[in-house]
Amino acid sequence: MRPFFRRLAGMGGAILGPVLAPVLGIVALAGGGLGAIAAMPGVSHKGPLPVWTAEERELAARLRTHVTAIASTEHNVVRHRELEEAARYIDRTLSGYGFAVKSQEFEADGKPVRNLEVSIAGKGSEAQRDIIVVGAHYDSVIGAPGANDNGSGTAAVIELARSLRGAALPDTKELKLVLFVNEEPPYFKSEQMGSHVHARDLASRGRKVTAMLSLETIGYYSDEKGSQHYPPPLDALYPDAGNFIGFVGDMGSRSLVHQAIAAFRKHAAFPSEGIAAPSAIPGIDWSDHWAYRQYGYPAIMITDTAPYRYPHYHTAQDTPDKIDYERTARVVKGIEAIVRELAGAR
Ligand SMILES: [Zn+2]
Repeated sequence: MRPFFRRLAGMGGAILGPVLAPVLGIVALAGGGLGAIAAMPGVSHKGPLPVWTAEERELAARLRTHVTAIASTEHNVVRHRELEEAARYIDRTLSGYGFAVKSQEFEADGKPVRNLEVSIAGKGSEAQRDIIVVGAHYDSVIGAPGANDNGSGTAAVIELARSLRGAALPDTKELKLVLFVNEEPPYFKSEQMGSHVHARDLASRGRKVTAMLSLETIGYYSDEKGSQHYPPPLDALYPDAGNFIGFVGDMGSRSLVHQAIAAFRKHAAFPSEGIAAPSAIPGIDWSDHWAYRQYGYPAIMITDTAPYRYPHYHTAQDTPDKIDYERTARVVKGIEAIVRELAGAR
């Protein structure tokens, strides 16, 4: 026994516990635990993607139209006129798809801002209905147009609304499709974060949310080796080509990560990877699902992994021409299958 360990062994258990617990936690993660956080049901698609269908091409064209309209220029509280223009485009488009769009308005730094929501509900009373939230933030970070972060997720939610309008839901289910303001700094994890306002309102009214999916930066793909990066120690577990869509949750949302990726893999011929890991790992809680976790709701992020893959993350070069609209369309069709399963939609 080396002197350091002899010294530790001489200390009382009351001291040893707190000192060693974090160390042992990391050791456990690096051993069997590390494999467990990456173990997912089903099998990721391998090999060439199937021939594009006409439906996927049309969806890709609509996604491009939305991203170009919403995220060609910076839009946030600092660029408030552009933020409101993006909100009006979302409102107009969803109204055009036949929805009554609800604005959830509040103030941030003295300026009016809003979340936008459409709902598809079963016939039961509000008290009888469990809620599934599918959302994306539509604001861009300061200094960036935000085409991928998060015009891509915003366009996806708009098109999910289009595909799901008129769906019949069981009496006990309600689907809310929400576009959030103020995900980006300085509002991230604050009281003025749009998703935090939304989640807090549902919790204060005693509503039960059974699943929340945050669509966060979903439009960039590359088949090149070395195009995908990870926070350590995850790089040993996952592929090094950034051609997959990721499903990300903390330990408390593990079963939702599993349910979502299983449904995706059953319905979409597109590579996918999943992780359910402690939120101390950088990136695990970096989106609007964080807000729902604050109220104990199961909530996950679906993402291309953003800074771990996308070279234009949070820069002026995050422009609409960087998005792979056809692969994004495939991902959106797969997410639609997840949402239909979660909501019991017919
Ligand atoms: Zn961002």
